[in-house]
Parts: sequence; C-alpha cells; structure tokens
Amino acid sequence: MAQAWTLKSRPQGTPTLDNFELVGIELPALEPGMVRLANRWLSVDPYMRGRMNDVKSYVPPFAIGEPLQGGAIGEVVESSADGLKAGDLVLHMAGWRDEAVLPASAVQKLPELGVPPEAYLGQMGMPGMTAYFGLLEVASAKEGDVVFVSAAAGAVGSTVVQIAKAKGMKVIGAAGGADKCAWVKGLGADAVIDYKAGPVIKQLMDVAPGGIDVYFDNVGGDHLDAALATAKERARFAICGMIEMYNTGAPTQLRYAARIIGARLRIQGFIVSDYMARAPEFYRDMAGWAQAGKLKREETVLEGLARTPDAFLGLFSGGNTGKMLVRV
Ligand code: NDP
Repeated sequence: MAQAWTLKSRPQGTPTLDNFELVGIELPALEPGMVRLANRWLSVDPYMRGRMNDVKSYVPPFAIGEPLQGGAIGEVVESSADGLKAGDLVLHMAGWRDEAVLPASAVQKLPELGVPPEAYLGQMGMPGMTAYFGLLEVASAKEGDVVFVSAAAGAVGSTVVQIAKAKGMKVIGAAGGADKCAWVKGLGADAVIDYKAGPVIKQLMDVAPGGIDVYFDNVGGDHLDAALATAKERARFAICGMIEMYNTGAPTQLRYAARIIGARLRIQGFIVSDYMARAPEFYRDMAGWAQAGKLKREETVLEGLARTPDAFLGLFSGGNTGKMLVRV
C-alpha cells in the first residue's frame, strides 16, 4: 500500500514530529490519461510552514489528516497517457508520499539540461527560479551592484550568490556558522557574515562601508534591518522570504524602517509563480552558466520517506547546506 505523510495537528510555534503522521493511502485507479508514479525525490520547503496554519494566503492551507503536498520527482511506472511512458522522470506536486496516480496534466517532463533529476527541485527548479527572477527582475540587480543576500547557504540564497557573481556583481552573503560561511565564500561571495557570531548590522557595515545597492531577503528580522541601515540611496530590495518569523509569527522590529523614505528605497515582495511563464529564460541562462562552470550545486539528502518531517524541521535549524531533499 502507498504511504503518505499527513498533517496530524497544526503546529503552534516551531513544528515537532508529533504534528505529522505517516498513513496508508488508497491510490485512484489508472484512468485513461493518467500515470502511476514511484517518487524518487521529495522536496521540503520553508513555504510549507505557512500552509500548516489555518489562514488565508496565496496558497490554501493543508487540511488536517490529508496527505501533505510538495514538489517531487517521480518515475513513471505505468502510463495510460500519450507522451509519457514507464521510466520517464517527471516533476509534480504530489510529494510527502512514495507513490501517486496523477493526470498527465499535473506532471511535467524534466527539461534536458544535463543535470541530475534532483537538481530540478533545487537550483534548476523552483528555488533557482526564485533566485533568478528575484535578483534580476524584482531587484533589477545589474553589473557592479553590491548585493547582500541572507540565508546565503540555502537553496535560494546560494543560487543568488552565484547568479550575482556570474553577472559581475559584488556579493555579501549571510549564513549561520563558520562552515556555512566558508562554503558561501567558496561559491564566490566577496564577503560573508556569520549572523550567529555577532550583530548583522555591525558586520554588514564593516564589509560594505559604502553601502549596498540590492538586498535579497530570505530571513527578515535583524538581516532586513541591517540592510535598511546600510542601503544606498535608491537601493532595491527583493523580499523573498522571512523565515525568521515563520514559527513565531512575531512582528519584526525594524529600527531603520524610516530610511525607506529618506533613501527612496524600492522594496518589493514577490512570489515565484508569477514568473513561471518565463521559465525558458531561466533554463537558458542557468544551462549556459552550468556549462561554463559558473554554478556549484549542493544538496543535503535525508534517506527514506520516513525522514521527510525531519528534513522539513531541519530547514528551521539550519540543517541544510544547499537544497534540503529526501531520497525515497
Ligand atoms: P533554505 O535552503 O535557505 O533553508 C532555510 C535556511 O534558512 C536554513 O538552512 C537556515 O540557514 C536559515 N534559517 C532558518 N531559520 C533562520 C532564522 N531564524 N534566522 C536566520 N536564518 C534562518 O530555504 P529556501 O532556499 O528554500 O528558502 C529561502 C527563503 O526563500 C525562505 O524564506 C523561503 O520562504 C523563501 N522562498 C520564497 C519564495 C517566493 O516565491 N517568494 C520561493 C521559495 C522560497 P542558516 O543555517 O544559515 O541559519
């Protein structure tokens, strides 16, 4: 019988393993136009935390007792759909489970960019696309800009660092701990900030005495405040995520918010799905940079469906370098 993780109860604050339950699920019959999939890779992503709250948002909340959803790479094991055959690898949203039966319209064949399948859940997939459009479109970052990016050792942040370097920008990455900072430096960052070692604002002022042109926000809180404090006039902020408050829900205290006015800052939030129609641009540029040796990829892999909640919880304690994945 197929198995899936369900949300047993809504987390209060930081989720725990008790919030999740692994259950057997009945799969629908394979009707014409459908595929039966064996999942090979599952993605866990910070946005899933928001879906665990019963609040209205840009995606509906997960239902209690229902299989959770998320990005996954599945192998077609049986097909009654034109254009899909056993052995094909596809991207789809029926993650957090080992098997699924889906209509062909709900799966996407993997592009052929010469990278392993799991890369399409990370650097060559949704997180990479978030980095690409957030940096180049939302923040209008260009050659010569000084870019500050938080959670720089994560899936989105590490891609921001590398795209910025490929485009001739100066990059400052913030991450938690000396090892992660060394890894971010190895990606090409000009300077790194270990936010666990001291106040972000002081460190950012030290490494960017002339200020920053662009801030790519993955964290919020003290990182956002430091960026506000050091922003040059007319700096652009792409507000991608605020993981620092996903579990607490506490309002971020921004002591330097008034600089938005005086420094004429442009601050824009975005959701990556707004840019899905432009995926070919992303694939084209990323494939070019990958072939030119300008992209390094790392995944933190937990083995087996049983570890999926552990992988998810790890996102909030810095358990991952690069993309957090589960191999089924
Ligand atoms: P990551 O791979 O970056 O994993 C999360 C990382 O965040 C952790 O490894 C940890 O790194 C850091 N972190 C966790 N808690 C805190 C905290 N309290 N303070 C500072 N850092 C913390 O995840 P993603 O790359 O998938 O996502 C990064 C951000 O982008 C998230 O905020 C996410 O919600 C957002 N996002 C937004 C999208 C959009 O469309 N707007 C799409 C995709 C992602 P460390 O060890 O360095 O602390």
